[in-house]
Amino acid sequence: MSRKLMNRAGGPNSMMFNMGKSNAKVYVKSSNGIKFADVAGEDEAKENLTEIVDYLHNPKKYSDIGASMPKGILLVGPPGTGKTLLAKAVAGEADVPFFSMSGSEFVEMFVGMGASKVRDLFKQAKEKAPCIVFIDEIDAIGQKRDGCIGGNDEREQTLNQLLTEMDGFEGNTGVIILAATNRPETLDPALTRPGRFDRRVPVELPDLKGREEILKVHAKKIKLSEDVDFEQIARMASGASGAELANIVNEAALRAVRAGRSFATQADLEESIEVVIAGYQKKNALMTDKEKMIVSYHEIGHALVAAKQTNSAPVQKITIVPRTSGALGYIMQVEQGNHYLMSKEEIENKIATYTGGRAAEEIAVGSISTGASNDIEQATKLARAMITRYGMSEAFDMVALETVTNQYLGGDTSLACSAETQTEIDRMVVALVKEQHDKARQILLDNRAKLDQLAQYLYQHETITGDEFMKILNDEK
Ligand code: ADP
Ligand code: MG
Ligand code: ZN
Repeated sequence: MSRKLMNRAGGPNSMMFNMGKSNAKVYVKSSNGIKFADVAGEDEAKENLTEIVDYLHNPKKYSDIGASMPKGILLVGPPGTGKTLLAKAVAGEADVPFFSMSGSEFVEMFVGMGASKVRDLFKQAKEKAPCIVFIDEIDAIGQKRDGCIGGNDEREQTLNQLLTEMDGFEGNTGVIILAATNRPETLDPALTRPGRFDRRVPVELPDLKGREEILKVHAKKIKLSEDVDFEQIARMASGASGAELANIVNEAALRAVRAGRSFATQADLEESIEVVIAGYQKKNALMTDKEKMIVSYHEIGHALVAAKQTNSAPVQKITIVPRTSGALGYIMQVEQGNHYLMSKEEIENKIATYTGGRAAEEIAVGSISTGASNDIEQATKLARAMITRYGMSEAFDMVALETVTNQYLGGDTSLACSAETQTEIDRMVVALVKEQHDKARQILLDNRAKLDQLAQYLYQHETITGDEFMKILNDEK
């Protein structure tokens, strides 16, 4: 702490004089004419925010009838889903000034500066109303105050000032405060109580249609060949955020330049998905032949178990070209349409699919490798969730034994049960995974010839597409 202060104090003198003084130009930013049309997908969020736009256009319509707009609206969702973009679009649509600041800026400041910055911000906003005040990453200042001595004074003062300002102006002044966060559960309850940020707009990861639209929006910025199938790309990029999709399009353009072409192709886009999701191809990474064979069997094991269970998504593509992310093999599963609910059977099948890689090693190679560590983690997570969160076990029925504490960042969980119950859960998780592992092994044993045939193909070609896979699988021989 003291070191930080010294460093700052050693900086240019002007900084000292500016301390606590308003510096008007800092905040006013144009939203660069961003409109709702620039935000693809997210129809529900846009619909929600349309009301705000309408209000900013004509506050009188609302005050005449006695309705007041919420002062604060919280945009919540995982990183890269377009929260910042949406906030700018609201300002762009309403054609009002956009005051923006980021929560993380305050963490780095002199004590007292944060609070005075907040004060200035609101003072200016009120003068410029109707307008939008946007606080990005509000969790950086709005974390729950834990009351321990020596906590982050600066953050707390800034938060208090923000609360004071929000209470200080009446509704219907034409100032709308938008804030964004991907950790809503860490916010201080004082921030989310009625009269402050009492409206929440979820901004979720895009579904298939949303992904296709986002790709199209960003594809307008680059030159593409005419045969590009956006739906196909969107299917392959299942789970990608808007920011990742934008990145995929840009990577495709870069790839085209590298290849000396003047436009990007379907192949560029497909390869970019893998680059963005799985890291760059290690062109000269060396895998021994034996390793390559093991990885081939491992990946085919997953795919074969998935394909043989009717409810599992079919395989789009498998490659055994190593990626910088460290993954040796890579399976691209394709979900047909979107899934909101998963049945018990589907989860069990998924666990079986995760164990399929290891099962294939056991059967074909006769020894096991470290290559299954991620599979083990995923399978365990699912099995655990079935018992502790989804009420899918006989023994515990519909009792919640775990709660998700961090919904948008990885979904950490915390246990809420006694030590004895915990022991019992552990035992059940093991039994569940074991059962599915046995099932996967049986499926592979029943299809031993196909397992060999497919693994050989993958070993030789290093890549196998879903179509090729199904052709070999269904080929009567
Ligand atoms: P967040 O604030 O939720 O982390 P951003 O709004 O900063 O995400 O998004 C980063 C970038 O990703 C945007 O500038 C845009 O290029 C792209 N992006 C994200 N979501 C969308 C979307 N729904 N439509 C179009 N582009 C998007
Ligand atoms: Mg953002
Ligand atoms: Zn695996």
